[in-house]
Amino acid sequence: MNPDLSEQDGVAAARSAILSRIADAAKAAGRDPSGVALVAVSKMQPDDRIEAALAAGQRVFGENRVQEARERWAGRREARADLELRLVGPLQSNKAADACALFDVIETLDRESLAAALVKAFDRTGRAPRLFVQVNTGEEPQKAGVAPADLPAFLDMVRETHGLAVEGLMCIPPVEEPASLHFALLARLARRHGLEKLSMGMSADYELAVRLGATSVRVGSALFGERA
Ligand SMILES: *Cc1c(COP(=O)(O)O)cnc(C)c1O
Repeated sequence: MNPDLSEQDGVAAARSAILSRIADAAKAAGRDPSGVALVAVSKMQPDDRIEAALAAGQRVFGENRVQEARERWAGRREARADLELRLVGPLQSNKAADACALFDVIETLDRESLAAALVKAFDRTGRAPRLFVQVNTGEEPQKAGVAPADLPAFLDMVRETHGLAVEGLMCIPPVEEPASLHFALLARLARRHGLEKLSMGMSADYELAVRLGATSVRVGSALFGERA
């Protein structure tokens, strides 16, 4: 498939601007820019924009639905061994095996039933994606994630009862509050629990997230344009 030329230019230009803003934010915080990954959130984006991002060199992509991600990526994945796919949306336990078969990283582990389903899915698929725990830093009832106060017990349970390794923490701050408070809280929780990876920051606030320690930022609309 040949990407539309104007899409290709637009996505490539947006990508290099985002990468340089990430690098500037990292340097301003005394961090090495290579310690921050740009996760291109490709949900609901048309194929020509996906192809444009690939042509520009983007290799790490985020999706929030298993079925949609499989339609978009299963074929492309076979042709490209260097892709890294991350699930950044909620995962139902009955889709755990499908998720393990497709994704390299699952960022939204948030309950014991899912931990148990993932252990079975690892056995069944022979694949074990890296795991992040989603933290509901704003304690919003409608939002997924472990409450900050419950995180220590949750991590113990995941590690000891289920034998799973957790690589990092992920959060989606409440829209009406300053994101900085939530990013700082997530960074503090990760430090306290010896976790190195922090998935935080989206199109509106990824530079702030990098200054506060993000090791990956999840950027959709600022990279691809508005979703359909
Ligand atoms: C859609 C989505 C994003 C990207 O949002 P933008 O504002 O378009 O950058 C990031 N993280 C999650 C979990 C998402 O669902």
